[in-house]
Amino acid sequence: MAIRQIRVIGDPCLNKTCKPVVKMSQNMKELIGDMFDTMYEAKGVGLAAPQVGILRRICVVDVMDGDPIVLINPEIIETTGEQTDDEGCLSVPGKVAEVTRPDYVRVRSLDMDMNPVTYEGEGLRARAILHEMDHLEGVLYGDRANEPYRDLDEEEEWEEEE
Ligand code: ZN
Repeated sequence: MAIRQIRVIGDPCLNKTCKPVVKMSQNMKELIGDMFDTMYEAKGVGLAAPQVGILRRICVVDVMDGDPIVLINPEIIETTGEQTDDEGCLSVPGKVAEVTRPDYVRVRSLDMDMNPVTYEGEGLRARAILHEMDHLEGVLYGDRANEPYRDLDEEEEWEEEE
């Protein structure tokens, strides 16, 4: 396992559509392990493969609810409700912006053995899943935000919202 370098806004990797994972390999497993390590080290609640320069449809999400997940080739099945809150991104350091998203999401994904699996999320978990899935389409949260990026104040750090 290793910490990978997180690409920041302006890096072309963050604006590309990612390709599906066709088979699980040792490399892919290492990538997923590294993505968790990199996310935890950066105190994020999610990370998508393009953020570490790999243009594949993989995300990891852990909103500290005891249920970390890997999303491989995820697809949205259902969304309901609406939530509006500040959002941040490890690839847009020091910034936040208010984003309105569904309050609930259900997604179809593959697990580490490439078997189909379904995940649900509500509140922050839904927000994190949808944010990470946007990365797979080359979309940053600023593209969906209700306002321009703001500087992150000391007292409202994104990490503290966990
Ligand atoms: Zn992000």
